[in-house]
Amino acid sequence: MCVQTRHYDVIGLGFGPANLAIAIALEEDPSVRREDLDYCFIEKQEAFEWHGGMLLDDTHMQVSFLKDLATLRNPASRFTFINYLHERRRLDSFINLGTFFPSRLEYNDYMRWAAAHFQDRVFYGEQATSVEPVEEHGRVTWLCVTTRRADGSEEKRYARNLVIGIGGYPRVPEAFDGFDHPRVIHSSHYRNFRQRFDLAGESPRLAVVGAGQSAAEIFNDLMDRYPRGRVDLISRGRALQPSDDSPFVNEIFDPDFTDEIYTIPDQQRSELLNSFRQTNYSVVDLPLIERLYERLYLQKISGEVRHRYLSGRHLRRAEQRGDSVAVELVPCQGVTGTWHEYDGVVLATGYHRDGHRRLLSPLSPWIADGPVERHYRLPLSRACDVNVFLQGCCEETHGISDSLLSVLAVRSKEVVDELLTPTPLSAARAG
Ligand code: NAP
Repeated sequence: MCVQTRHYDVIGLGFGPANLAIAIALEEDPSVRREDLDYCFIEKQEAFEWHGGMLLDDTHMQVSFLKDLATLRNPASRFTFINYLHERRRLDSFINLGTFFPSRLEYNDYMRWAAAHFQDRVFYGEQATSVEPVEEHGRVTWLCVTTRRADGSEEKRYARNLVIGIGGYPRVPEAFDGFDHPRVIHSSHYRNFRQRFDLAGESPRLAVVGAGQSAAEIFNDLMDRYPRGRVDLISRGRALQPSDDSPFVNEIFDPDFTDEIYTIPDQQRSELLNSFRQTNYSVVDLPLIERLYERLYLQKISGEVRHRYLSGRHLRRAEQRGDSVAVELVPCQGVTGTWHEYDGVVLATGYHRDGHRRLLSPLSPWIADGPVERHYRLPLSRACDVNVFLQGCCEETHGISDSLLSVLAVRSKEVVDELLTPTPLSAARAG
């Protein structure tokens, strides 16, 4: 096992869109001289990829490209989507497409292009496993970040400032707790593992659980891949619901809205968040709903029903039967279940966003009461000379846009301004 140490002004945990936007904001901040500020990012993937498991052909962004990594902060930035198109010599062709919503494949390529500018700042292939306080004379002077590589080797680095942007991790229904079957996969791994379904032959029996955008896109993809297969979409809700992206509603994703939602009383804020859930959770783009409906309708004409939408069903139990997976479905209004057997199951059941809590648990005696600050700093005891900033896990206080791309450009500046102002960063280098 190899252990090295190094001290940084800033360490970013995760190098997805959130911390990529931070890297850009730092790069473009006129007060930051690259050689004066020691910062790095740590990313568990071996290279930059944005939701690789869901990079399906023919899927598109649900956010305008103008809400890219930089435009809303600085439209003249060289990291805008438009400049990416220009450098790739596709700007004119993109204009001819007449859309604000590029394909997810292209948007991933845009972010990969932006990430390549920071190759010397990112340690890929390392997963942060803990963040521990370093105490000196009763004060926390550093945060020690331990990371592990795939080969088991560990690394320790020290930071005065930590920016956590590690994204979500799979939410798995209770019935599948501890289930270990190579063909039961979460949607976040779908593209990486979907070829496993080929092992069940040309006409596999497959189920997709969930009624959000991921479930709908995967259901559609499986129907394309296995026209002779049998694919069921299973949801608790009675119907697939369309996402509301109408203009007045869309204002809740404007960066300015963060101030508004942050300042209202807790009870009102949670009611407001609840009333806007249909913008993001358990909802599907209307054109895709229509496409799926038409596909199922066409089966009625031929009389050959291969793909079904089993709505209003609760998933009570799951068990392995030989190579197959059996699930018991109970109508949401009833008690009697029926068992269905599948060769593979995709759990498109969403994400948890509290991974930072486990990472930060050694720091818990130093975490103060109260909400995450407006500019994303975690409240810490006065005996701390360190800062922790959270991104993508502050929906309760900062609104639904917090885990999405919409506010990245502006939020990155808010975090960077806060990072550079309150604690003299030169102190870190003295350590
Ligand atoms: P999601 O919207 O959170 O939906 C999760 C689904 O799983 C819900 O229908 C939920 O059902 C269901 N579910 C959760 N636990 C369950 C359980 N125990 N049993 C049965 N069903 C359960 O997740 P998502 O579809 O992965 O979307 C996440 C985010 O990614 C969204 O912001 C979405 O817009 C985005 N996304 C974007 C694209 C794109 O840009 N093209 C593609 C995919 C995803 P209930 O409603 O009953 O709780």
